[in-house]
Amino acid sequence: MREKSPENWRLATRLVRGGQQRTSFCETSEALFLNSGYVYESALEAEQSFDGTRERYVYSRFRNPTVSVFEERLALVEGAEVCRATASGMAAVHAALFCQIRAGDRVVAARALFGSCSWILGDLLPRFGVEVVFVDGVDLSQWEAALAKPTRCVFIETPSNPTLEIIDIQAVAALTHAAGGRLIVDNVFATPLLQRPLQLGADIVVYSATKHIDGQGRCLGGAILCEAAFLNDILGPFLRHTGPCMSPFNAWVLLKGLETLELRVSRHVANAERIANFLAEQVTIAKTLYPGLASHPQYDLAKRQMSGGGAIVSFVLREGKAQAFRVLDRLNLVDISNNLGDAKSLITHPWTTTHQSRSAEEKLQMGISEGLLRLSVGLEDVEDLITDLRQALSA
Ligand SMILES: *Cc1c(COP(=O)(O)O)cnc(C)c1O
Repeated sequence: MREKSPENWRLATRLVRGGQQRTSFCETSEALFLNSGYVYESALEAEQSFDGTRERYVYSRFRNPTVSVFEERLALVEGAEVCRATASGMAAVHAALFCQIRAGDRVVAARALFGSCSWILGDLLPRFGVEVVFVDGVDLSQWEAALAKPTRCVFIETPSNPTLEIIDIQAVAALTHAAGGRLIVDNVFATPLLQRPLQLGADIVVYSATKHIDGQGRCLGGAILCEAAFLNDILGPFLRHTGPCMSPFNAWVLLKGLETLELRVSRHVANAERIANFLAEQVTIAKTLYPGLASHPQYDLAKRQMSGGGAIVSFVLREGKAQAFRVLDRLNLVDISNNLGDAKSLITHPWTTTHQSRSAEEKLQMGISEGLLRLSVGLEDVEDLITDLRQALSA
């Protein structure tokens, strides 16, 4: 056996090799275990596998070798003790919340959230007798007021979708802990490369691996990263018995996504910076939102807690929905799609798509106006993207 010390590996090495366990066939790439069950040498071995005296795979709803490689690799990249993969980003968000919440608990969340996260917090949790308080995530005084009472859990997304608000993770983590709670950060927009919430005091990080981790529009996936004790005592039993597990095939695709993540994210960020600067100069655009632009309201905070602005640029057209639809319909290269983090540049009108389920009042409170477009900048040549945006905006 060659010596392996992944803890000494730098990031790019972890992304390419983390967690790999070769089988006796000595394959180069990660093996794909498309099996649901496992067999035992003896009845005793089966018994011991269930009573916990023997650690091994017993059923792919619990663990699967291909999924385990993905989990170990992402944990190494994130600097987390453990990771569990889920079928989608929403399965990760749902499990991270529901595994620890009981009737009568209090949850505080930032208002600016991905549409389905907003539904889980605003519509689903209250059905089970959980008090959910929403705050303006960029206003620390609102966090202080909301977290003056004991709170089980805090949920934030930073940068937020689609308005790219930046929340001070370190400050909110300190307030959460003082209120006796755990901080969950949805880190999708930042990717594991641009922001490390656990190092800033967060307790749990969730991802939609569907986005940049796959990054090529192929499959759904999600992940939860946390401490081993939280996994063993709270999250693990919930996952085992409710079954939001990731398919081994998707884990295998997503492992390949991790191998190129650093290359792709650096290109995404370089392209997005160029495009944000281009959009900021256009007279038909009232506002361009990008954490890497000096005009961003939380630019200094973004610089402090992120190492790049990300792949998403949002902008507000002066003439509202009619103009937004005109621009979308005139684009030739950029596709109209509500997905993001893809190699292909994708654009959406959040008011009528991702946030359609929210009322007009809620959308406006989240900073989503009818003229807002969210552009997920892809890996194409940035000059081609700018040419396409220029002709669509000039209509
Ligand atoms: C896409 C997304 C999710 C949900 O992920 P799925 O893989 O689509 O279930 C959650 N949070 C954010 C910020 C997202 O962008």
